[in-house]
Amino acid sequence: MLLFAGVPSAGAADGLGDPVFPALGNTGYRALAYDLAFDYRAESRTVDGTAVVTVLPDRTLARLELDALGLTVRAVRVDGRPAAFATHDEKLTVTPDGPLRPGTTSELTVEYTADPRAPLPHTGWVPTPNGFAVAGQPASAHTVFPCNDHPSDKARFAIAVTAPDGLLGVANGDSAGTEHHGDGRTTRRYVSREPMATELVQVSVGDYTVRERTGPHGLPLRDVVPTARAAELEPALALTPGQLAWAEEHLGPFPFETYGIMPADTDDPDAFGFTGLETQTLTLYKPDFLRRPEAEIGSHMMHELVHSWFGDSVTPARWSDLWINEGHADFYGLMYRYERGWPDGWGHTTLVDRMRHLYGLGDQWRHDSGPVAAPTAANLFDSQRYTGGALVLFALREKVGADLFDRIERTFLGEHRYGNATTEDYVRTASEVSGEDLGGFLDDWLYGLRTPPMPGHPDWTVEPVEPVGAAPFGTAASGASGPHGTSRTHGTAGSSGAARAGGVAVTRGSGTL
Ligand SMILES: [Zn+2]
Repeated sequence: MLLFAGVPSAGAADGLGDPVFPALGNTGYRALAYDLAFDYRAESRTVDGTAVVTVLPDRTLARLELDALGLTVRAVRVDGRPAAFATHDEKLTVTPDGPLRPGTTSELTVEYTADPRAPLPHTGWVPTPNGFAVAGQPASAHTVFPCNDHPSDKARFAIAVTAPDGLLGVANGDSAGTEHHGDGRTTRRYVSREPMATELVQVSVGDYTVRERTGPHGLPLRDVVPTARAAELEPALALTPGQLAWAEEHLGPFPFETYGIMPADTDDPDAFGFTGLETQTLTLYKPDFLRRPEAEIGSHMMHELVHSWFGDSVTPARWSDLWINEGHADFYGLMYRYERGWPDGWGHTTLVDRMRHLYGLGDQWRHDSGPVAAPTAANLFDSQRYTGGALVLFALREKVGADLFDRIERTFLGEHRYGNATTEDYVRTASEVSGEDLGGFLDDWLYGLRTPPMPGHPDWTVEPVEPVGAAPFGTAASGASGPHGTSRTHGTAGSSGAARAGGVAVTRGSGTL
């Protein structure tokens, strides 16, 4: 954001002030619903988009802003009437012909074109030879559609995808109809039953085959698989029903109308900088990863599945609350691994052994990546938010016992189902359910610069901190380290690619799961 002294900002606001990405999102309204249409043009490999955003102002607005980057906007209407618009930084400023009033919804329609291959400072597009997929987390959904791009503003979504015949357009949620246009193009519509954060939107066009199967208690499952890979990926996809049954035993009923896996329709190992992404009801994967044997992928598949509860149903209110997503996803992913008898990359075969190992690295990680609940844009996806978060949950479980811990988890998921939660919300629930004030205990674990004592394990020790040298936080340690590394092994073994967010390189950190 560039501001000039004496000249007011062009928009109504400069973002919601998120601790990690302060410019994301906008004040003055909430987005209630998105009706999105994506028309993939095979000849130009571009996408013609129409976004209809239903907004509810909380004050009188002479204009308002949406997050938008890299979108060529052709027209904007507000409640059907043409509106003036301008772009600056990563904002689309809309000026209707009259002010919007608080408490009255308005419909903003934005017609635009986007090029999934366009070079941008950061992007949510995953270009593929036949189309595209979307990976908007954390801060790039607004390169795919104009939106109030902050996880705290969840909304209803209906998505229509038009693709040339022979290709398939898919999106989150349930199928809601197909329209053959008779000109070689087909539009497929999808509706999400529950609210969704913008970062969790999935839209894809590719040479896909849909594989339907049935999960626990009749839950319909839908995998969207590159047709050429459908046979070789079937063993991995067939694991989902069993994984769902295990997850439901720990976390309660699956929160959405369907679940499925979408290995992207691309052979490019660098198509995106991580292995899997929990786009709601349809998890995006690198196809090659899912060709491996179950013992090598099962814990990661559990990680992504657990995000349906922690991340998608209960979404972080701020990006600094990311450890709630990733810590829980890793905690249950690791629990699943060791229950199934799959040794990890260090040879550990029990959760206790792995946690003791991690505990020893605690001070180094706090030194290199900051406290678990105080990330920056540069180190947001470091392992400190992943297995570092899992270590906090392990400490809590050791302190209160497994039964109370399970009650804390279920209560937290129930209280914030389909909404948002903060770190403070989790701490409050832990205290209320356990009947003891856990604020000090958890604050030390979440925000302390030194690793607190581990309850029940007075013999566990923390290794001394080694200087990191010239390497910056996060990304530097990740590329060089592997599961057999030394005290700096909090990187992303197996997923060292970097995503860009807010202009800062970040790296997903769950590769050591
Ligand atoms: Zn994750």
